[in-house]
Amino acid sequence: MSTAIPNRKSPIVIAHRGASGYLPEHTLVAKAYAHAAGADYLEQDVVLTRDDVPVVFHDLVLQEVTDVAHRFPDRCRDDGQWYVVDLDFAELQTLRVHERVLPVTGAPVYAGRFHERLDLRIRSLAEELSFIRGLNAATGRHAGIYTEVKSPAWHRAEGKDLSPLVLATLAEYGYVGPEDDVWLQCFDAKELLRIKHKLHCRLKLVQLIGENDWLESDNDYGAMRTQEGLAEVARYAQGIGPWIPHIVTWPSPGAAPVCSSLVEDAHAVGLDVHPYTFRCDDLPEHSADAESAHRALFDVAGIDGLFTDFSDVTLQFLGRRP
Ligand code: CA
Repeated sequence: MSTAIPNRKSPIVIAHRGASGYLPEHTLVAKAYAHAAGADYLEQDVVLTRDDVPVVFHDLVLQEVTDVAHRFPDRCRDDGQWYVVDLDFAELQTLRVHERVLPVTGAPVYAGRFHERLDLRIRSLAEELSFIRGLNAATGRHAGIYTEVKSPAWHRAEGKDLSPLVLATLAEYGYVGPEDDVWLQCFDAKELLRIKHKLHCRLKLVQLIGENDWLESDNDYGAMRTQEGLAEVARYAQGIGPWIPHIVTWPSPGAAPVCSSLVEDAHAVGLDVHPYTFRCDDLPEHSADAESAHRALFDVAGIDGLFTDFSDVTLQFLGRRP
């Protein structure tokens, strides 16, 4: 068990792809639900279209959350996948977004979620930021944004430069400096360094940390999680976004949670820690329930924020909802 001291600041709740536990991810209705629930930050994953429009979409490919296979049967690559970068923004507008399904069977990934098929669309980053600005103004409750530059090296190999377009759109909506309510996240350390030093970005940056075999980038995430690695990250970022099992695991059902020293080590070099992703319907392995998973993360490990598909449940744990 780590000796980490529980975090004393008030932790932030990040609506992972919106209120994606209840509504299809990255749709405006999912963002509205998360805003109304009281999430502190609404997340955007951003990828580029063929005509260079930054859109709010998690995957590089379309078929798991849209009807692209029916609308554009001829536009799949030889690998049997439909890429966002192969379609123009106007073409993407004809697609209907639905809850995530498994590639081959088409069965829902999360059986208990929203499975109606409705006119839900992919939105540009600009449209989403406009939507959030409108919600902030109309409700008087300000939600921040938490934006991810997705797979920058992959985009570059496709002849696309994602980061400058994301930064330009954020700037258009007033997100320019560390005082603004925005975190910019990426798995690729080289790209974060470029964003900071070459693109002169002043936003708060978050280094996402995965497992090497996910192939999110060519970074060695094991080395990044050491004290030396974290000290290096602290030279360019203000926070890290590790995977929940990097922080806490339950060795077996009913066992007490075991915390790593990651939060303590990150705090020692001034990094905030915002792990991903809490899901009520896909709890951390062997954890008993939402309450005990939240308690281990916030009260024992001392995290500074959490990516959650269920903002309302996380807010309730933190005593911020009735
Ligand atoms: Ca993300």
